[in-house]
Amino acid sequence: MEERKTLIADGNLLQAHTWKGLLEACGIHVELRGEALLGGVGELPAALHNVELWVRESQLAKAQAQLSALDVISPQWQCLQCHEINEGSFELCWHCSAERSESHN
Ligand SMILES: [Zn+2]
Repeated sequence: MEERKTLIADGNLLQAHTWKGLLEACGIHVELRGEALLGGVGELPAALHNVELWVRESQLAKAQAQLSALDVISPQWQCLQCHEINEGSFELCWHCSAERSESHN
């Protein structure tokens, strides 16, 4: 058995399904795991999170490259206050500490 690696942890179920489809279109086998798949059917809102995507170790780098090319893992965002570009993992602007906003104005 080839070892599996976590590609995404704490994903959103709907996003995870989208990513799985995109990756499998590239020939990467993706396995979905997580509470959302194991939990009660009647508790969907809370269970939409904590989804994990697993891929084969040999395909991990390719899968990560695909997701980053799609801006899935860490889409950048622009600060509304100072217009600096921030990495997607930042919750505050690195430059002026303004809060992240999704607005595109
Ligand atoms: Zn800023």
